[in-house]
Amino acid sequence: MKVICVGRNYADHISELNNTKPSEPVLFLKPDSAIILKNRPFYIPDFSNDINYEIELIIKISRLGKHIQMKFSHKYYEYIGLGIDFTARDMQTELKKKGLPWEKSKAFDGSCFVSEWVHKSNFKDLNKIDFNLKLNNNIVQNGNSNLMLWKIDELISYISTFFTLKIGDIIFTGTPSGVGKVSKNDILEGFLENKKMFNLKIK
Ligand code: MG
Repeated sequence: MKVICVGRNYADHISELNNTKPSEPVLFLKPDSAIILKNRPFYIPDFSNDINYEIELIIKISRLGKHIQMKFSHKYYEYIGLGIDFTARDMQTELKKKGLPWEKSKAFDGSCFVSEWVHKSNFKDLNKIDFNLKLNNNIVQNGNSNLMLWKIDELISYISTFFTLKIGDIIFTGTPSGVGKVSKNDILEGFLENKKMFNLKIK
């Protein structure tokens, strides 16, 4: 399986990193080796002094598809969850300056946390899903899918133009503002519409 991530999908996060608003979704991939195994903590790697959390709504692909028309996108996923796109921000900033790919800073082992899943029938409106992230019991990121520049169905259609979507693939839909650094012994907790989805320890 693969993890497809969308960058710069919330206007407030684009401005906090001084990025420009893209005319099309920004995509990058994480390999399956990036996923944190169940009940394991996140280990801060030696090669970075600035690992950032990025809370994101994630969707699990339930059907094989390519060139999916937007009106059919909803048939390709059943479950929604929360993920953390861990980013070595110091390294990413250097790579961006040089115009190089981001993989080392975005796709390293442990850079992809995936929560439990909730069936989409539990949400009244998929374009109005509230979520947030707590760091040591303080809310640091607040998001709502209605603030996405490209909504879930648009993303599925766009992504499938380039990458065949397979059963089990995961899409990270981008992070709202409030990203920040993690330190040893921090606790991250994610909430989807007030339902606690995970508790992750930083080591
Ligand atoms: Mg991200």
